Formats: sequence, C-alpha cells, structure tokens
Amino acid sequence: MMIKGTTKILGVVGYPIVHSLSPVMHNAAIEHLGADYVYVPFSVKPEDLADALRGFEAIDVQGFSVTIPHKQAIMPLLTEITAEAKLSGAVNAVSRTENGWKGTNYDSFGFMAPLKEMKEDWKNIAPVILGNGGAARSVLVGCQSLGCREVHVFGRNPQKLADFADSWKNTPVHDVLRVHVWDELGGMISGTRLVVNATPMGMYPRGGELPVTEDVIGGIQPGTVVYDLIYSPRPTLFLTKARERGAVIVDGLEMLVQQGAKALTIWLGRDVPVDIMRDACLKQSKPAG
Ligand code: NAP
Repeated sequence: MMIKGTTKILGVVGYPIVHSLSPVMHNAAIEHLGADYVYVPFSVKPEDLADALRGFEAIDVQGFSVTIPHKQAIMPLLTEITAEAKLSGAVNAVSRTENGWKGTNYDSFGFMAPLKEMKEDWKNIAPVILGNGGAARSVLVGCQSLGCREVHVFGRNPQKLADFADSWKNTPVHDVLRVHVWDELGGMISGTRLVVNATPMGMYPRGGELPVTEDVIGGIQPGTVVYDLIYSPRPTLFLTKARERGAVIVDGLEMLVQQGAKALTIWLGRDVPVDIMRDACLKQSKPAG
C-alpha cells in the first residue's frame, strides 16, 4: 500500500487498541481494491474522545470504527445517529457527512449474518443471551430482527438487569425481552436452541474461564446453536465444551468481519472483498490453547 498526498484516512478509536484486528482486516481489503485509503488504529483515552473528534475533523478523517470503551460515550458528540444505533444504545461506526459525524451500529447485522446462513426457523426459537452489557444489546436487537418471539437475557447484577429491561420501554424489543438472574439459567438451558455468550468470560488472555458452570453446559441439548461473541481465542473453551455436547458452534470472528465489511462498504462507496477481510483476520487470530 502506497500512502500518498491524496490518501484518505479511516481508522478505529478505542482504548486499549493494540489487540484490535480491525486495522489488518480493513487494510487487507483496501490493498486488494487498490483504493487510495489507509485505516489507522487510534488509541484514545476516555477523557480525550471529544478532542480526538475535533482532531479527526481537522485532519479530514473520512470515517472510523468505534470500540471499547467509547461505543456509548461517543453518541452525544455526533451530529446524527441512525435508528439502529439508537435502538442498540451504542455506535460502532462513524461516517463523515456534509453536516458532521453520522454514527451507526452494524454489530446486530454482523451478529445475524452467520445465523441467516442456517436453515432454522428463528421465530420458533427462544434464545438465551448470557450477559447484559453493550454486545448483549446488539444480540437482542438481532434476535428480535430474526423474528424470535421471546428472548431470555441473563445477568448477574439484578439492578443492572432491571435498568437494562427499562431501557427498552417503548421499543419493539420490549415485547420479546424476558430478563433473568444468573441462578435461573440451569433450569432454562435445556429448553433453548440458541445460546449466546455476550460476556467476556473466556476471552484472551483468560482463555481458561467459562461463562457458565460445567453443570449448565451439561444441560445443552445436541443440535443447539451455541454462539460465542469472543473471537480470541477461537474456539473458546465454552465452544469446545458445547461442541462435545453435540452443539453447532459459532465464534465471534464472522460477526467482526461482517460488521467491518458493512462499514467499509459505506466508507468506500463500493463492494468490498469479504473473503480477503476474513482471511486477514484468520491469519491474525489466536488459536485456542
Ligand atoms: P460489556 O459491555 O462490558 O458487558 C459485559 C457483560 O458481561 C456484562 O453484562 C457483565 O456483567 C457480564 N460479565 C462480565 N463478567 C462476568 C462474569 N464473571 N459472570 C457473569 N457475567 C459477567 O462488554 P461488551 O462490549 O458487551 O462485550 C462482551 C463480549 O463480546 C466481549 O468478549 C467482546 O469482545 C465481545 N464482542 C464481540 C464482538 C464481535 O464482533 N465478535 C463485538 C462486540 C463485543 P456486569 O454488567 O454485571 O458487569
């Protein structure tokens, strides 16, 4: 890739940012297309986010991805926020427009992509989501969009869980949402066909951790889709154990690739090579063990 005087800047803003696969993934596609762009990691502390945005404007950044811990904090700093991002309560991609910065969220899109490839009738499935943080919100929106009539979200902190439930009032998600404290999980796991880990339990460098007990895993029925949003390591210990129970497993890499490809399509205004982006991530991702 040749950076010239004409090269336009894209990037990702997060803190820390060193483990992000996004620069490798986006630059692989940019290089393949011969597009005159570069995608840069921006390490920005929470207290510096507003300054960073002013800087991005000054240096003519065209668009950027948003990751932990800025996905919610960035919202009041933007000129426009799409309906998807408002519903999820978080922004993961920002584009430059004539009026300023437009924030959106492609995490639900990315989450749903591998599920849409499966021959399941999602309307008749009542998914179980582990965790009630930012990613769980996108998963919930995704499940509702897939047509699930009931979605069960499990959290360990009753107050946060109640606030989570409240935050969906007056949205279509509220009708399908059922919240539960963690202890109720054992009784429900065997009755579902889709389990999603939206907690960081098992993520590198703590790959020996599980989001649920071995007993709960023992309740997973063969053929259940078990989806872990974590993509490092891949597969996680949770997915390995679920596969031993006969589950169909999905890791978080495809979600990452699909949301990234969607954002890059918008920034470049053309189709992007998803296979090249996926291969670039696969080469960089950490194997299990
Ligand atoms: P987050 O906002 O911090 O939420 C994490 C959730 O996990 C919270 O509900 C938290 O509970 C819960 N949790 C944490 N430790 C727990 C434990 N020991 N037992 C039970 N629950 C626990 O994080 P996030 O942004 O949602 O990210 C969650 C995971 O999704 C991360 O691993 C992230 O890498 C992954 N992710 C992947 C993609 C992708 O593209 N594949 C995209 C987004 C996120 P409390 O609220 O009680 O603390």
